Amino acid sequence: MQLSSKSRHFDYLVVGAGFAGATFAAQMARLGKSVVVVERRSHIGGNAYDYYDGAGVLVHRYGPHIFHTNSEDVFDFLSQFTEWRDYEHRVLASVGGHLVPIPINLDTVNTLHGLSLAEGELEGYLASISEPRPSIRTSEDVIVSRVGRDLYEKMFQTYTRKQWGLDPSQLDASVAARIPVRFNRDDRYFSDAYQKMPLHGYTHMFENMLDHPLITLILSTDYRDVIRELAYADLIYSGPVDEYFNCRYGKLPYRSLRFKHESVAQEQFQSAPVINYPNEHNYTRITEFKYLTGQIHPKTSIVYEYPCDDGDPYYPVPRTENALLYKQYEALADVTPQVHFIGRLATYRYYNMDQVVAQALQLCAKLTGQSRSYLIRPRSAAGVAAVAG
Ligand code: FAD
Ligand code: UDP
Repeated sequence: MQLSSKSRHFDYLVVGAGFAGATFAAQMARLGKSVVVVERRSHIGGNAYDYYDGAGVLVHRYGPHIFHTNSEDVFDFLSQFTEWRDYEHRVLASVGGHLVPIPINLDTVNTLHGLSLAEGELEGYLASISEPRPSIRTSEDVIVSRVGRDLYEKMFQTYTRKQWGLDPSQLDASVAARIPVRFNRDDRYFSDAYQKMPLHGYTHMFENMLDHPLITLILSTDYRDVIRELAYADLIYSGPVDEYFNCRYGKLPYRSLRFKHESVAQEQFQSAPVINYPNEHNYTRITEFKYLTGQIHPKTSIVYEYPCDDGDPYYPVPRTENALLYKQYEALADVTPQVHFIGRLATYRYYNMDQVVAQALQLCAKLTGQSRSYLIRPRSAAGVAAVAG
């Protein structure tokens, strides 16, 4: 889109039409502010973008996205823009010829250790095989102190090396702490109060978020190519923070993925929505989208995820040296007037969608002088010993 002059003045220029940018724009427009959103991809939705593939199956271009949150505020906010489908996500891991539940639960341990423990017996058993650690600093510490070395090696070590190109001992505890351990037979991937999928898909929800007379959307455009043509008061930036500052202190590491999408001429491909491959193959997991969306279709569509260093930035890499480098950028961001940084890439945090929505709503509250807090605390590594119920 060509913008001919600065004839129109916007309250906010938002860089990125993912969860961070779209939430900010939607909320501010509804508070009477004018917003121009500039997105360099040809579509809205950021990494949550979904579309109907050639076979007519709804798929997620950038890998499986399942909405889950404990925040009523975030759920209520998004519910203005979508209806929901109840969906509790389940994942199996392929280990030694078995397909076992992940997060580790009673069935996982009984299958992999050839036992027939009852529910009340698992906690004591895991305590007997776990390796106590004086402090929990790394992802290795988290897992071996909860389930011992054998399950760590079978289910976490090689998966993590594939996913991050790093050993769990080189990653912050918070990474593995995302996955609980359950002492019962609960095989749901998430424990949150709200576990849903947008009924008509994420892109449809984003269309509703951005459909407002006070929002102007410019796609397929890097904001740097149009910034001089736009008049605005504040800039809201949701791209990679190091890129904003021309990598002044060096590049921040982000992990990327290569996605291999396939359409399969059969109704069902695999026995679970996602199957993880901790120890085999170069890919980490295969997702079959129809489980997530509930779509009925004679064909099915799947995606393989191959982790890699080069490519679009998808994951900040949580480890001490990166946190230190990010702190330098954060200090710079803090003293950059009229520019606000939100989202997974701009604040270098391994955030889920709901945390990004909360962060964007928090910024709206701050800029409009409300004292309300929306922020969602990430699961702490210290409190992760186990989720029992
Ligand atoms: P993004 O979605 O990355 O959006 C930022 C946007 O800014 C991008 O579209 C980008 O093109 C644009 N941009 C960047 N620079 C510029 C520029 N210079 N000019 C213009 N535009 C620019 N979360 C969950 O809650 N549940 C899940 O199941 C889940 N699964 C995931 C699976 C995978 C494989 C991945 C990678 C992530 C997953 N997430 C999940 C996390 C989720 O994707 C993020 O929390 C969320 O999408 C982050 O939104 P964002 O707006 O911060 O960033
Ligand atoms: N993980 C693992 N084995 C698994 C699942 C997860 O080792 O079967 C570890 C791995 O380090 C992964 C992290 O736990 O990166 C977080 O997993 P999650 O499923 O939350 O990752 P995401 O969906 O964000 O890629």
